[in-house]
Amino acid sequence: MSSRGFALSTSTIGALLITAGLAYLLYSQVYEFRNVQELGSGIFVAQKPVTSASAGNLQFLYPGIRWNHIPVTVYLDMQNTPAGWEFEYADAAERAMAEMERTTAGLVTFSRTGDPNTADISIKWVQAFSYARTLDAVGHADVTFVPLDGRALIRKAKIEMLTMSGSRQLTGMEMQNTVLHELGHSMGLNHTDDQKSIMYPVANENVLAPSEADAATLRDVYKNEALADLLIDSANARKKAQKGVLLSRYYLDGNVTIRNTGYIDVPNVIVIIKADDRTVHEETIARIDSGQSIEYRFENIDAQEDFSRVYFDIDLPAGIREYSETNNAAVIGV
Ligand SMILES: [Zn+2]
Repeated sequence: MSSRGFALSTSTIGALLITAGLAYLLYSQVYEFRNVQELGSGIFVAQKPVTSASAGNLQFLYPGIRWNHIPVTVYLDMQNTPAGWEFEYADAAERAMAEMERTTAGLVTFSRTGDPNTADISIKWVQAFSYARTLDAVGHADVTFVPLDGRALIRKAKIEMLTMSGSRQLTGMEMQNTVLHELGHSMGLNHTDDQKSIMYPVANENVLAPSEADAATLRDVYKNEALADLLIDSANARKKAQKGVLLSRYYLDGNVTIRNTGYIDVPNVIVIIKADDRTVHEETIARIDSGQSIEYRFENIDAQEDFSRVYFDIDLPAGIREYSETNNAAVIGV
């Protein structure tokens, strides 16, 4: 029997972020047990994976942060609007999205969805922010992401906008600038002290499109395909034998932990276990999401003959590319 558990915790970093914690899954499987004696065991510990730093001129909310797909879907809430809301604000949001698409030459695009629950980014106008904010803020973005090794995958962004700054109603231009700023956060950008940037932390109705530096930074990130990266984090193996009169039969116990540090959720991951050059077991793990770690435990795999090394290998479905394939194997002497 295999058991699965899934836990997702969230906590807020700084004023803007929610991080999604690592999920953990445990697979456990016990094979037919015979009266055996333990002979030897070994352990494998992975090297730290190679990290990929994102290029660009602007600061990021987190190293290597991005979405893993384009277009990003957007839900624009025009149903539940506060007093003082005008259709001009929705037009301003549309213009903000169009300007980001135009300046990134279509590397960042948005598609509209009518479903707030599945939308990647939701934009809504509120009377007051749902979280405590600085008094003079007019927009706010909560960006939910999975931290990886030197990378981070954005899973969701929630943008809230006020329609008033103090007692004064915002203009359409101010709204366009503010939506651009929150979209910038939603795509992974942090603040800058460049006043021409949409990421300057003070609203400026003269900045109605991403600056050249803003757009170049976004293009640098989103011109690259988001890849997967599975790795064997740790493994250990134990050899056992059932002694016979003439022949002995050999068995294998152990566990292997596989982690997905890439941007892509990977289905049907095949774990191959070899005793010397003989494949003694293959296991298909239904899915390893970005940021997930899965421990696969096994007992009493029948290796038949004696062996001195245990090999682990992970295979991805055809067509799923990885940043590194050199971290997909481990070998243990037993
Ligand atoms: Zn900001």
